[in-house]
Amino acid sequence: MCGIVGYTGKNKCEDILINSLRKLEYRGYDSAGIAVIENGKIKTVKSKGKINDGLVKKLEDAGTLNAVTGIGHTRWATHGEPSDINSHPIGNSRVTIVHNGIIENYRKLKTFLIEKGYEFESETDTETVAKLLDYYYTGNPVEAISKAVTDIEGAYALGIIFRDYPDMIYAVRKDSPLIVGIGDGEMYIASDMTALLEYTKKYYLLETGEIAAISQNGASFCDLHGNKIKKEEQIATWDVSEAEKGGFEHFMLKEIHEQPNAVTKTISPRIKDGLPCFEECGLTDEMLRNYHHIFIVACGSAMHAGMVGKYIIESMSRTPVIVDIASEFRYRNPLLSADDLVVIISQSGETADTKAALELANEVGADTLAFVNVVGSSIAREAKMVMFTYAGPEISVASTKAYMVQVALMYLLSFRVALARHAITEEQCRDYITELEKIPDKISECLKDLDPYRKAASRLVGADSLLYIGRGLDYALSMEGSLKLKEISYIHSESYAAGELKHGTISLICDGMPVIAVATQRELLAKTISNMREVKTRGAYVIAICPKGISVDAESADQIIEIPDAGDMLMPLVAVVPLQLIAYYASVLRGNDVDKPRNLAKSVTVE
Ligand code: GLU
Repeated sequence: MCGIVGYTGKNKCEDILINSLRKLEYRGYDSAGIAVIENGKIKTVKSKGKINDGLVKKLEDAGTLNAVTGIGHTRWATHGEPSDINSHPIGNSRVTIVHNGIIENYRKLKTFLIEKGYEFESETDTETVAKLLDYYYTGNPVEAISKAVTDIEGAYALGIIFRDYPDMIYAVRKDSPLIVGIGDGEMYIASDMTALLEYTKKYYLLETGEIAAISQNGASFCDLHGNKIKKEEQIATWDVSEAEKGGFEHFMLKEIHEQPNAVTKTISPRIKDGLPCFEECGLTDEMLRNYHHIFIVACGSAMHAGMVGKYIIESMSRTPVIVDIASEFRYRNPLLSADDLVVIISQSGETADTKAALELANEVGADTLAFVNVVGSSIAREAKMVMFTYAGPEISVASTKAYMVQVALMYLLSFRVALARHAITEEQCRDYITELEKIPDKISECLKDLDPYRKAASRLVGADSLLYIGRGLDYALSMEGSLKLKEISYIHSESYAAGELKHGTISLICDGMPVIAVATQRELLAKTISNMREVKTRGAYVIAICPKGISVDAESADQIIEIPDAGDMLMPLVAVVPLQLIAYYASVLRGNDVDKPRNLAKSVTVE
């Protein structure tokens, strides 16, 4: 995680760096700092805490920095507690760096450098890189970088400044993302394009093993042996307004409201003649017919999107689907073969665990299909096939619209698998698609009156713990509801298959304990209602989420939140909205920082 920025040009860099860092704060906010080259000297200002809490105040005290070249960092600590000293930039008077990633062999490097006479100040792994660069530096930055990165094991994106080259920024990366932004007489580096949208849409993608040297006149690239590399300019399709709050109190609330549009944008281009179409990524019906298994591998909310996919694909086409948590998949020696399809889901396309799972699948020779939101991201480039979700930039750390479009795409895939395997007819498939196309309106309908969600949240904020229950697809969905609540309200919750409660967990139920029951599956309704009664009888305060027309009565639930009916199969796309908003309001009512929950960061680029 963490966000890196850099600027070199004609303008004062301090404001540009701070402004760009603010856009990247979703990636980490344990500390922040900048380093600039002023009058031939490297000046570093850094502080524990969010940009506005620490760094901005320190910069005011430091007085105006009159520099046109500098680098910046917002940190999600991996090695060393969040503190001023462990904050980036890190370095000395000759060379200073910002780093995103983890240096796995930092102990060995530290021992080596101490033997060479270096002293260490921080507890970070990053400091070893700064010192190693200094050790190898004899006047040629590219040579020093090449030598240093050859010694490093792990993941890194580095922004580097050398005192002797006051108009230059150097960058290199392996497995952590980094782009080079192209301005007019000014150039940038950044972890991702959201940092730069206000300044430019043009950029170069830096690949693993490439070194960039940038000045206000442009960028040059070479490999670790110094061979020149020519790169193509890329253009970002995201708009700057998409990365602003646009009148909403929080990004999360804005992003929840963007969901109808995000679903339309994601599914429409993939519907041809009323049928789901995967031609753009090269996935054919013949391939879908031949796969032995489908693996869906992801982390967090994306994994929950995969859970919905499993229920749908298996029930529609009887194709076995295995959903795996990416960090487990890689190390459990999965029963994967070249006859399988591995669907990889990641909003950022940089999730380290998911990327490692993708690499494993590629090695085995399985077909890999990525659902990714960020064009040009590592996962998008490394997967054999890619389908982009068109959610636009998601800034809130807790995912909402990105999850929504992952699920929407999962439906399209499920329908295509069923069609390819002759489990449904074209006519049936067209009917499903027609229903899917109505989902954006149904989501909008859920957003008309937010009071029921606020009311439900007010029942949760005093609780120490609560349960989410559901059966079938409702269970898959309640996992996402529970995660959302934990992430941003810090209230402990668990999601439980409603029928499983009586096998142990029901002993947790005590007077007034909230239980959120997702009851959208008509087929399972009677059983879910029985489970709701079982907990209500034991004192639980039951909040039921169900489609209009389903009869849940006051004996089974204390609060009933009615949502538009989308038919059993598509209900997760609608029922997730109340779950998101209940979590949102619980966080607001508890006075938490909704968009930047403690300890978390988006785009988890470390394992
Ligand atoms: N490993 C570095 C640190 O702990 C960088 C972490 C990051 O990528 O945010 O400071």
